[in-house]
Amino acid sequence: MHVAAIIAAGGSGTRLGAGVPKQFLQLGQQTILQRSIEAFTGHDRITEVILALPAGSPIETAAGTAAAKLRVVMGGARRQDSVANAFAAVSPDAEIVLVHDAARPFVSAAVISRTIDAAAAHGAAIAAVAVTDTVKQVTMEAGHRVIAGTIPRESIYLAQTPQGFRREVLAKAVAVGRGEAVATDEATLAELAGHPVHIVEGDIENVKITTSADLDRARQRLAEGATARAGTGYDLHRLVEGRPLIIGGVDIPFERGAMGHSDADVACHAVTDAVLGAACLGDIGRHFPDSDPRWKGASSIDLLRQAATMVRAGGFEIVNLDVVVILERPKIAPYLSKIREGLATALSVPIDRVSVKGKTNEGVDAVGRGEAIAAHAVALLASVS
Ligand code: MG
Repeated sequence: MHVAAIIAAGGSGTRLGAGVPKQFLQLGQQTILQRSIEAFTGHDRITEVILALPAGSPIETAAGTAAAKLRVVMGGARRQDSVANAFAAVSPDAEIVLVHDAARPFVSAAVISRTIDAAAAHGAAIAAVAVTDTVKQVTMEAGHRVIAGTIPRESIYLAQTPQGFRREVLAKAVAVGRGEAVATDEATLAELAGHPVHIVEGDIENVKITTSADLDRARQRLAEGATARAGTGYDLHRLVEGRPLIIGGVDIPFERGAMGHSDADVACHAVTDAVLGAACLGDIGRHFPDSDPRWKGASSIDLLRQAATMVRAGGFEIVNLDVVVILERPKIAPYLSKIREGLATALSVPIDRVSVKGKTNEGVDAVGRGEAIAAHAVALLASVS
């Protein structure tokens, strides 16, 4: 059975802030939209996914999740116009078409399957949840809300998405939607077209993210499922004349600098190892070997940026970082805030997650004699699925 899924992401509502439509906001490693798309592209019964994006949004927005079965169309002025545009792009082979709201990123595979089965059996079916609270009908009397009656709650269901239709049923609903009637879901249009719409069991976790409180709760839910991963890194370089002293990407004026193949930035090297180590991705030498001419004279802050990209691609978020730089001279206190800023920028994390401390070795050993500079780093990552 050929099943198409339309993801309605045409809305440009920016009330959650950040000046971008809510579906483009980050929820863990992915945007709300990417999560909604992947619920369908990753479902083995879905043949194709048509995404309706707000007019004017870059197509590349969805490229991060581009699967072979995904196609993108421009949305319209109303939700039903976006769905109509997407429906026009559905393959002629499609027997069942689901419509899903991009703002529901937690839809489960089971809810999708139930909706497909019921749509195939009855022509039209939506995921919905029963209410558990007592339901009151309310009227306004002299500016006050007053209960007019109690509605048997058994008769009340809250509509979710996906909403599934046999192709010809959705065609009729879309035709109704081309008129004046404004609907907040496709079931309403199918009802107006005179087709009975069935209910399948939805899921209270299949929330619609509308307010910033919804978004906070969704982020909290992900964080609760996250696993913490710690990594440690250490590095040491000799200090010699005729070399720059670069620490955390900051060029520090001094008569000697760290010897090495690259810019010999001990702080960046220790941090890179800590971040890679926490993700179990090996170390700096494995990814950027000094035998490779590509890394000769490489800027270590760039290598750190690449390491951060690698761990993110592995499904990790960088939580925080603590670094100790050990050298006898010069004092690095005046440069600490610049070093923190440079590391935080390379890792794409807020500066308050990056701590850098300077230490001397009290004159002991090579570091204490000023012959070398060393650094230790600890990184904490969270694996966010
Ligand atoms: Mg090194």
